[in-house]
Amino acid sequence: MKSKLQHTGMILLILAGLLVTTYVSANDDFVFWPDADYDPAIPTFETVLGYQPGERITWHADVVRYFEALAKAAPDRMSVSSYAKSWEGRELIYAVVTSAGNLSRIDEIKANMQRLADPRKTSRSEAKAIIEDQPAITWLSYAVHGNEISSTEAAMLTAYHLLASQGDKRVADIMRDTVVVIDPMQNPDGRDRFIHHYEITEGLVPDPDRISAEHNEPWPGGRTNHYYFDLNRDWFIMTQPETRGRVKLIQEWYPVTFVDAHEMGSDSTYFFAPGAYPYNPHLAKNQRSSLEIFGKNNARWFDAFGLDYYTREVFDEFYPGYGASWPSYFGSISMTYEQASSRGLVARQYDGKDLEYPYTIRNHFITSLSTAETTQANRQKLLNDFYNYRASAIEKGKTGDVRSYLIPT
Ligand SMILES: [Zn+2]
Repeated sequence: MKSKLQHTGMILLILAGLLVTTYVSANDDFVFWPDADYDPAIPTFETVLGYQPGERITWHADVVRYFEALAKAAPDRMSVSSYAKSWEGRELIYAVVTSAGNLSRIDEIKANMQRLADPRKTSRSEAKAIIEDQPAITWLSYAVHGNEISSTEAAMLTAYHLLASQGDKRVADIMRDTVVVIDPMQNPDGRDRFIHHYEITEGLVPDPDRISAEHNEPWPGGRTNHYYFDLNRDWFIMTQPETRGRVKLIQEWYPVTFVDAHEMGSDSTYFFAPGAYPYNPHLAKNQRSSLEIFGKNNARWFDAFGLDYYTREVFDEFYPGYGASWPSYFGSISMTYEQASSRGLVARQYDGKDLEYPYTIRNHFITSLSTAETTQANRQKLLNDFYNYRASAIEKGKTGDVRSYLIPT
């Protein structure tokens, strides 16, 4: 009996050894982007922060430090500015990444979007002339929920990749034909609250157990801002300084593409557009068809990488106070992307697999690039659709039954 038990124990040990070997070798193959050739003049994560992407969860102050280091290394192609301060005094920053030619005339590019946004002043032929030579703006917003951590690291990688990639035609096209605006942390107070709890509870090695102390985030968690507002419900009510600053900024730029990158439960995979049925009837036909175009390009990349994802379930576009819907109402293509969360450096999923932080970062990184690529490939269509959306709103206002709504305070 005893020897039989020992025998079983040995087999289990060998099996465990095999599993560990497989696991480690799978990790050795892990890359954020295959065959990337990076310009050494652009500072990496490691040179600025001292660790590889996904080894730590990056604090607000360090995210700002990294973005400033990138802008310092490539001031002709990237700028970093602040658009608001959180309740706790943290700067909300955004980065503008594009070609040197575009950055040198960035005010003109913004002014052109204002002209396209107002068909009362801009005729169809004038709009056509503007669109001929106008880069389209992709707006990538990350981590409005502070405990949805991976997207902020993906924001840093996206900026790095766009600046440092050499000999990659896709990146060159994105830089030439578009402007990528990156808002890496929409809720820095919530993010730092999450990291603080995570770091004071972690041990020598990350614990994937979902009931470990580091995964047991106490109320109120990092989701909300300082006053426990869910900033992803605040977009049309605009009660919080983070939202107010953001909305004002976005209306200066009028991006044709807007992404709000989130995380969802650890047992899920990845979600992108098109969203759940029934569809919001207030979306224009062109907006709906463009959602499909963005979704298909994301799917193409996920298929190439062999990654799981889904569409058309769970996430709808009805509530106008979401980041993924409010920009639709000025004529943008607005989407939520959702990655299963490791809620720390690693989480064990229901089937026993470990979901690791670098993996979750990579997925948001892939869709960030894929989205910019889709904007680039559909530049003229998206700019035309934007102008037509604005023109159709004026037409509807002239002919519709309702002229205005009065809302008592
Ligand atoms: Zn979220």
